[in-house]
Amino acid sequence: MRSLNEINHNTKIVGVIGHPIKHSLSPMMHNYAFNKLDLDYVYLPFDIAAANLKDALRGIVALGIKGFNVTIPHKERIVDFLDELSDGAKIVNAVNTVVNENGKLHGYNTDVEGIFRTLEDYKDELRDSTVSVIGAGGAARSVIYTLINSFNVEKINIINRTTEKAESLKDYFTSKMLFEKIKTYELAPPDVTEILSKSKLIVNASSIGMMPEEDDSPTTIVESFNSNQIVFDLVYNPRKTKFLAIAESQGATILNGLKMFVEQGARAFELWTNEKMPTDRISEILNKEPEL
Ligand code: NAP
Repeated sequence: MRSLNEINHNTKIVGVIGHPIKHSLSPMMHNYAFNKLDLDYVYLPFDIAAANLKDALRGIVALGIKGFNVTIPHKERIVDFLDELSDGAKIVNAVNTVVNENGKLHGYNTDVEGIFRTLEDYKDELRDSTVSVIGAGGAARSVIYTLINSFNVEKINIINRTTEKAESLKDYFTSKMLFEKIKTYELAPPDVTEILSKSKLIVNASSIGMMPEEDDSPTTIVESFNSNQIVFDLVYNPRKTKFLAIAESQGATILNGLKMFVEQGARAFELWTNEKMPTDRISEILNKEPEL
C-alpha cells in the first residue's frame, strides 16, 4: 500500500465490489503490483450488498473510480447496468472486471483469461478430448465457454448436484455456441465414477472442498482418477483440496485455482494500467500466504 503522503489528487482508485468481501486476496495482490511498478494507484475492497449495486455504480462513476473487479453476488446482475460488454462477457453473461472510460462502464470477463492461462500448456492434449466439469454455476459457465472457444474439446459432461441447473447450462451453450456434445449427470458418486475416469480433464468448478469445508470432495472414489488425466480445482483455499490430493495419489496432473486467480487479476490490471503485473512473484507470495 502506498504511504499516506504519496496518496494525493493524482492517485487513481480501483477496487473490488462484492458481499462478503473480507476474505478477498485481490487488494493485497494489486497493491503489491502497483508498488512494485511504482504506479500511482490504490486498490480498495468495497462491501456492497445486492440491493445497493445500482447506487454503488452511480457512485463509482461520480467519484471517478478508474475500474473495479466484481465478485459474488454481483457478477451476473451487473451485466444489465453496464454500457458495453466484451464478447466473452456477453457469451458467459457475467462480468468480473469493469473499466470506467470517461463515465462509461465497460465490462469484461477475465476469469476466462485465467482459465485459459491455467490450461494452455495442455492445449494439444485437450484437443478432441472428453472433459467433465463439476458444478453448474457462474464459474462452470466460464470454464465451459473457454473449453469450447479455446481448446476445441470434443465432448463435455456437466456433473452437478442440481440436475436442472446442469440442463439449463447445457441448453445455454447449445443455443449460444451451437455446441451439441454436452451430457448432464447428477453428482452422485459412485454413479459418475466411470464418467470421470474416462475424462482427459476433470474440472471442479463447484465450491465443494473450499474452506471451512476442506474435508469435502466432489468424489472420494480413487477409481475416478488415473495418471493420464489433468485435474483442475478452481478452489485455491486450501491450496491442495482433498479432491486434488486424491487425484494426485492416482498419478493425475493436478492444478489448483491460484494461477487462475492471479491471471484473471493480471488481465484486469492490464486493462486498467496498460502494464504487466509481476505474476511470477505474486504467485510465489500467494503460495506461501497463510490460507484464509
Ligand atoms: P456458484 O455460482 O454459487 O455455484 C456453485 C456451484 O457449486 C453450484 O454448481 C452448486 O451446485 C455447487 N455446490 C455448492 N455447494 C455444494 C455442495 N455442498 N454439494 C454439491 N454441490 C455444491 O459459484 P461460482 O461462482 O460458480 O464458484 C464456484 C467455485 O469456483 C467457488 O469455490 C469459487 O471460489 C471458485 N472460483 C475460483 C476462481 C479462481 O480465480 N480460482 C474464480 C471464480 C470462482 P447446485 O447447482 O446444486 O447448487
